Amino acid sequence: CGIVGYVGSQAALDVVVDGLARLEYRGYDSAGAAVLADGKLTVTKRAGKLVNLRDALAESPPPQSRAGIGHTRWATHGPPNDRNAHPHVDCTGAVAVVHNGIIENFAALRVELEERGHELSSDTDTEAVAHLLEEEVTKGAGLTEAMRRVCGRLEGAFTLVAVHAGEPDLVVGARRNSPLVVGVGAGENFLASDVAAFIAHTRDAIELGQDQVVELRPEGVTVTDFAGAPAPVKEYHVDWDV
Ligand code: GLU
Repeated sequence: CGIVGYVGSQAALDVVVDGLARLEYRGYDSAGAAVLADGKLTVTKRAGKLVNLRDALAESPPPQSRAGIGHTRWATHGPPNDRNAHPHVDCTGAVAVVHNGIIENFAALRVELEERGHELSSDTDTEAVAHLLEEEVTKGAGLTEAMRRVCGRLEGAFTLVAVHAGEPDLVVGARRNSPLVVGVGAGENFLASDVAAFIAHTRDAIELGQDQVVELRPEGVTVTDFAGAPAPVKEYHVDWDV
């Protein structure tokens, strides 16, 4: 239901969880976050309100990180429990992904993945995406290229945001029939399903177009279509109150 991504010099987890709090008005049943530090992903997720996630993070604090993603879930596939909360991770723990929307061909993708030896650990349509991204990364693609390839295979509506343990300072997003906005900062950049998530940090924004992938690094933002062709980027200023 709500998505936040961050890369920059602030403590990523704080930016992500504060961003999720600003999206709470949309309603949700679970919340989670993943941060990337020292070549490792740390994923924390809980059914219920954001306070449950905050308590879990306080109990077992993830390492300081410059890149992170977060999610509030409105369950469509699988009951709202800790296991089905996002982010979802592949078997190797290398890729974490959050998703808004519905992957319509998820059942076929899950069968295909299981035939190739993947063990899926949730009931969601989303988890297939984590395993597909990992396969592409293992074949040698960077996360951005992996996202382009995987999006080409998905049907339905999705906003996806992912991180990869092997690529620090990188957050990748993609969208089809579901919103995703970039917040442009100085030496830091934001991704969210709604500008409300990052308005406290920047009012300079880029609306992602249909079937586009965005590569977010502290120093800049690159947008392409699913085939990798550069996409025109139109920056605007959010001058309304949210
Ligand atoms: N379809 C996904 C799920 O059920 C994402 C739901 C959402 O948009 O929050 O986990």
